[in-house]
Amino acid sequence: MAKIVCVLYEDPAQGYPDGYSRDDLPKIDAYPDGQTLPTPAGIDFRPGELLGSVSGELGLRSYLEDLGHRFVVTSDKDGSDCEFERELVDADVVISQPFWPAYLTAERVAKAPNLKLAITAGVGSDHVDLEAAMAGGVTVAEVTYCNSISVAEHVVMMILSLVRNYLPSHEWVRGGGWNIADCAARSYDVEGMHVGTVAAGRIGLAVLRRMKPFDVHLHYTDRHRLPADLERELGLTWHASAADMVPVCDVVTINCPLHPETEHLFDEAMISRMKRGAYLVNTARGKIVDRDAVVRALESGRLAGYAGDVWFPQPAPRDHPWRTMPHNGMTPHISGTSLSAQARYAAGVREILECYFEGRPIRDEYLIVDNGRLAGSGAHSYSEGDTTGGSEDAARYRKADEPLTVVVEAPRG
Ligand code: NDP
Repeated sequence: MAKIVCVLYEDPAQGYPDGYSRDDLPKIDAYPDGQTLPTPAGIDFRPGELLGSVSGELGLRSYLEDLGHRFVVTSDKDGSDCEFERELVDADVVISQPFWPAYLTAERVAKAPNLKLAITAGVGSDHVDLEAAMAGGVTVAEVTYCNSISVAEHVVMMILSLVRNYLPSHEWVRGGGWNIADCAARSYDVEGMHVGTVAAGRIGLAVLRRMKPFDVHLHYTDRHRLPADLERELGLTWHASAADMVPVCDVVTINCPLHPETEHLFDEAMISRMKRGAYLVNTARGKIVDRDAVVRALESGRLAGYAGDVWFPQPAPRDHPWRTMPHNGMTPHISGTSLSAQARYAAGVREILECYFEGRPIRDEYLIVDNGRLAGSGAHSYSEGDTTGGSEDAARYRKADEPLTVVVEAPRG
């Protein structure tokens, strides 16, 4: 019998939904590069249900309990007295999501002598100290591609929202106004702009493909260059580094993983190389940019706008300056957890667990760390090291005692 500890985000503020706004999900046959979608032997959920919050349990409970395993699900993940720390001590498997990450620091890995497998229900395993996982013989796996297109759609939405000044304009009508000049004074067309992505992996390439019809000039930088015919097809200009690319771009989107090479890549020096009035969209990881440098750049006008859904740590403390900085289009970490994406990552986690319990190899593309070293997708896209430093600050979100003032519309069944 194994013990599986699963950390998921909290249920909706008004309770787990008893109905949804749509009846089904479109059927996707394969990912754009031909990779197959998750292939578990079975699933015990209906695609389109909320699976990523604690009551959704990723649809795993009956599968695991029928095999005689112990399955613990919690959202209490931060601070030394949290349920995750208590349950971790005899856990064999930990499942966590980047949206509400259970930071698996070296200290926590040391407290979990039985731990053999850390599964990311999503993409991006920087919440795990990969150095400690390698040293401790813990396999790290994620559901590669499950939400890459979800994020690419979100990036396009955020680029258009910032450049066209959508969110402030929406606020004017919500407030009863008709202030066209206020809305238009910061609104531009994307057409003709230079748009660059830091990384052209699954998300970055999908963003480039989706931005092409807007008649923009496309740029990218990546450790591995794309095939020449693809560069020609999309009209791409490749740059050897982000520092080379950003001075020519009106819009920069960040789509690389967080690892020691990319941590704080967008610091004061990098941002000062950007065009005055450029827009920065980051749905990759909060720590790839310097928090305070972004705030200063928005205040000074170096950046005309910043949007994204990734913060550090997560959940972001109530006083995190990105909540209130000017010209921001921030959301909580949601781009990769649409109901569409959840169906894929829940099935992918099930596939990984089936492989693990049946002694079959986990797909190479799902592996980040295996046998004490970077493996599979991890060997391609990550560098060794740890980026979890400072994650204990996530506990501050819980310590805030002021009530939330957000008004949430009741979910319609
Ligand atoms: P991929 O592995 O397909 O792409 C990552 C790309 O980043 C690869 O092309 C890799 O290059 C490149 N890269 C790595 N290091 C560098 C570097 N130092 N400079 C330039 N490029 C670099 O992953 P995805 O596109 O699917 O996802 C990317 C990241 O997006 C994830 O790691 C995660 O952090 C984030 N993400 C966010 C989500 C959200 O909900 N907001 C959801 C999903 C992902 P190469 O392989 O050529 O070396």
